[in-house]
Amino acid sequence: MPITPFHFGPGLLFAAVAPGYVSWTIFAFANVLIDLEPIALYFLTGDPAHPWLHTPPGAVAVAVATALLGRRPCEAFLRWWNRQFSPAQARWLAVDPAITATQAWCGAFVGTLSHILLDGIMHVDVRPLWPLLAANPMQGAIDIDALYLVCVAAGCAGAVVLVVLAVRRI
Ligand SMILES: [Zn+2]
Repeated sequence: MPITPFHFGPGLLFAAVAPGYVSWTIFAFANVLIDLEPIALYFLTGDPAHPWLHTPPGAVAVAVATALLGRRPCEAFLRWWNRQFSPAQARWLAVDPAITATQAWCGAFVGTLSHILLDGIMHVDVRPLWPLLAANPMQGAIDIDALYLVCVAAGCAGAVVLVVLAVRRI
């Protein structure tokens, strides 16, 4: 997708329903890393293409790199996030800054694999089944506006779950 944050919606839902398994921060970080590919190619060639990282092997490589290298920066970001709040605000908005290995690995893999699935629906040059299939049979499977709506709806559902969990915790 041209706008990476749309991917964050499904990530919020994954993290809300399986917080012990998926770190949203790692999920988001993996999505940003994989989209460095079209961003870099846009600046280098003028074409925001998806030739390598937006394939299953590429997505796995980004997920492994994210899980191995992204944990500490994401934990540092979460500690910074927590410092922004007063004690009263922190009751609602502070998060556990520790990311377990399970949360890192699952968050990274769910992040990059869901990314190429969603991008595969949107972009003709994404190859979500390569090397089994060079073509992209998923492109246009659903309308682009519907795809955005699904991502936003997933994010809203995840936010509702998180609010409910926060209310029960307080
Ligand atoms: Zn992408």
